[in-house]
Amino acid sequence: MKIVFDIDNTLSNLDHRLHFIQPESVGEKKDWDGFFAACERDAPIPQTVKLCQDLMLAGHTVEFWTGRREAERDTTVEWLNKYVLTREVCAKGWGYPLYLVKLSRLVDSSWRLKMRKDGDRRRDHVAKMEFIDWDHPPDIIFDDRATVVKAYRELGLTVFQVAEGNF
Ligand SMILES: [Mg+2]
Repeated sequence: MKIVFDIDNTLSNLDHRLHFIQPESVGEKKDWDGFFAACERDAPIPQTVKLCQDLMLAGHTVEFWTGRREAERDTTVEWLNKYVLTREVCAKGWGYPLYLVKLSRLVDSSWRLKMRKDGDRRRDHVAKMEFIDWDHPPDIIFDDRATVVKAYRELGLTVFQVAEGNF
């Protein structure tokens, strides 16, 4: 099967940086730059990371579709290599291209890690729908955000919602 994992709040715990986009006072602006810039300090969410690894080890094709911007690609690849694409996973061949990115800039990770273009300020539930390749749509998508889950389901895709995701 082709299986898609969201990253923020699905594989990674972003609680420590939610304050950037949940201002305490009325009139204070959301700081999306600060929110994304802090993503390298996210802790992995053990249950979904393990599930993702097990699916890769079982031979399924896994892709990562994130609302993060291309500017965070290097940070995101590093994070995935550190917590998800372990040596055991890479040894089986799954996630191999991403792992190589850490060692060499020659390998293109874009086919397996889909990200929002820099400067794209559209909402997730709009931007992410463009990741879908209708010749090879995913069999299952794991995502947390209610608006995104709803948009995928309206297109007929199967989504496992991993958290409430009402932010
Ligand atoms: Mg998310």
